[in-house]
Amino acid sequence: MKKTPTEYPLLALRGLVVFPKSSISFDIARPKSVTALETALTNNKEIFAVSQLDAENEEVSQSNLCKVGTICKVTQVFRQPNGRIRVIVEGIKRAYLKEYIDSGEMVTCTIDEFEEFQVPRLSMELTALLRATQELFEEYAGYLAKLPADVIFEILTFSSNVGRLADLIGIHSLIKYDEKQRILEQPDEIQRLSVVNEILSREIELLKMQKEILEKVKTNMDKVQKDYYLREQLKVIQEELGEKDGLAQDVREYRQRAENMELSEEATKKLNKELKRLERIQAMAPESGGIRDYVEHILNVPWNKFTKENKNLKNAREVLDKDHYGLEKVKERMVEFLAVCQTAPKQNAPIICLVGPPGVGKTSIAKSVAKALGRKYVRISLGGVRDEADIRGHRKTYIGAMPGRILYAMQQAGYSNPLVLLDEIDKMGNDFKGNPAAALLEVLDAEQNHAFRDHYLEVPYDLSNCMFLCTANTTEGIPPALIDRLEIIKLESYTDNEKINIAKKFLLPKQLERHGITKSDLKIKESAIEAIVSDYTKEAGVRRLERHLGELCRKSVKAKLLNEVIGEKKKAVTITSENIELFLGNKKVKADKIFKEPQVGICRGLAWTSLGGDTLSIEVNSMTGRGNFELTGNVGDVMKESAKAAMSYIRANYEKFGLSQNFYRVNDIHIHIPEGAVPKDGPSAGITIATAMVSALTNVPVKNNIAMTGEITIRGRVLPIGGLKEKILAAKKAGVVKVIIPNDNADDLNELDEYVKKDIEIILAKDMDKVLDCSLAKTKE
Ligand code: ADP
Repeated sequence: MKKTPTEYPLLALRGLVVFPKSSISFDIARPKSVTALETALTNNKEIFAVSQLDAENEEVSQSNLCKVGTICKVTQVFRQPNGRIRVIVEGIKRAYLKEYIDSGEMVTCTIDEFEEFQVPRLSMELTALLRATQELFEEYAGYLAKLPADVIFEILTFSSNVGRLADLIGIHSLIKYDEKQRILEQPDEIQRLSVVNEILSREIELLKMQKEILEKVKTNMDKVQKDYYLREQLKVIQEELGEKDGLAQDVREYRQRAENMELSEEATKKLNKELKRLERIQAMAPESGGIRDYVEHILNVPWNKFTKENKNLKNAREVLDKDHYGLEKVKERMVEFLAVCQTAPKQNAPIICLVGPPGVGKTSIAKSVAKALGRKYVRISLGGVRDEADIRGHRKTYIGAMPGRILYAMQQAGYSNPLVLLDEIDKMGNDFKGNPAAALLEVLDAEQNHAFRDHYLEVPYDLSNCMFLCTANTTEGIPPALIDRLEIIKLESYTDNEKINIAKKFLLPKQLERHGITKSDLKIKESAIEAIVSDYTKEAGVRRLERHLGELCRKSVKAKLLNEVIGEKKKAVTITSENIELFLGNKKVKADKIFKEPQVGICRGLAWTSLGGDTLSIEVNSMTGRGNFELTGNVGDVMKESAKAAMSYIRANYEKFGLSQNFYRVNDIHIHIPEGAVPKDGPSAGITIATAMVSALTNVPVKNNIAMTGEITIRGRVLPIGGLKEKILAAKKAGVVKVIIPNDNADDLNELDEYVKKDIEIILAKDMDKVLDCSLAKTKE
């Protein structure tokens, strides 16, 4: 096609503006544009590029074109595989679109010259505008990281041609095409720069706002991200701690555990309530720990979970026999008790209390009974319990609240029908915080204990399937309210013979096994056991004896491993009464032995304590004085009263003893009970004190081989005492051959085993006459 010099192929640009003296590349695809390009290429490569007003419009029409365009030179053309053509054009100069000729295939146009108003020199004002624009551009460039450094440098150092500066900024800034078009269309250089100035200012404002918004979004994002990150970390930590996905998982597990148990209705309700509370709160909320503890406790107590009970009484007796030497009466009573438990309705079953000194096998009997019945055994030590909350638990509002000892024991047992041993009920105290004995009564009362209320657990708990046994050292300390509910079975102290048998048959085999040795590693002769019993232990039970046997085992294990020589033997150790001191050290018990000769003013009494029986000598001095009456040594109030009663008796009978009527005024009397004696304050030393006093006042010695026990009245009657067996055994041990006891103890005497009464003469005395008659050595024996 022929082209007049002023006629150009027209290229309608969409979203682009070409400035003079700038290169730009873009793709073309519309057929009219392609034909226009091809036409340009066949001629002088010049083309008129003009922006569409509406870039979205596919159709080219005059009304949709800007008034000012740019005459360009096509410098390069690339045909792309997708059919599009990439061109690079270089702007030559601005021109007005004049005539618009659409041939259908392409558009051509004629143009009018674009006259630019150039300023001859830079006025002050213009310089200021120029610098201001440059500064704006610098600020603008600061917001856009994308602008190449050399472009910025070029613009900032440009100082001659104002119009060109405006164009340069138009070319390089990332403003919209219609803004660029405004710059392009401005013939007046100063005006053009002002337009640039205004556009930049607005752009900067926009960018500033944009940045602020972005920063805000970013900080928000940062917080969200931080929270997310922390939560993820927490998850990992919880997982590491085995908490899995925290609370929800735990609650699920609690529910599952509860499903596999037979919780009571109240407990289920309460548990569900607590679990719902737990679900509602945050894992880290402070109260979550308390709720969890509570839930754990509820789930840890056994609910309707039973061990199978063995009701065979023969088996029970066999187990008791297998585990214990002697104790015939106790075993018999236990079996009777078990029989009654089976036949009598629950409500009437008695509660057994085993009473006896330490180490006589109370706990051990209870364990055997549990074993025989197939019940779990749990022990609750009540020694020192003063507070009701110890039994019944603290209310949940109390910090560090816990269930009481009863429910704690149930948790330990893990079953609803254990044998619960309430140990040392006589050591239980009582103070302002309530009466633990009352709480215990509720536990033991079959009519109430099916719904025992622990303050912490809050829901009733059924204790009626438990079997309760109690122990105490003496009946005296048992709270009166409790003693009515109990059936007492007494365990007495063991004789030396019993102790030796227990040691040989039970304690030693147990200790050998516990230390992992056999009889061939350690031989303990009977003489050695006898020596331990008499020279190393002074006790009613066998605890120390067992401990000493343990000590021997320990030492022989060491000897075995170190290949040590002990005594004369190597490795296999044989212990006899001769070499026992090598193992256990010097003898610990100095036996209280009788005097060789009868003594004036010294009389041997017999005492009974939780350690068993013992002898004690009471000494009395009488000297001329002013009637002082003094008591020293290991004397308690009851003994003081016994001494006064004795004095009263002697004064009333002064003639009988050949004393002057006012003997008590002209003599000082001093009674002393040695400190080392058994710490026992009781009335049973009464007749002993009286005898010693009579002896001192009359100067008649007391027989050295006699001992006595009995309470004295002021009229000289002798009243009964307790602990007869222990006292007689202690007397025998000390070498006494005659014992005076109150006549009223005759029945007890009949009950004693023969071996106790063997080798000793027992004299029953009704009154002091008889006592003195038998004890004072009128003529030397
Ligand atoms: P307690 O409860 O009366 O203080 P324990 O039952 O704890 O005494 O007894 C202490 C130790 O003595 C236990 O090892 C126990 O097995 C043992 N023991 C006590 N009496 C006998 C006995 N008659 N036969 C066998 N071992 C006994």
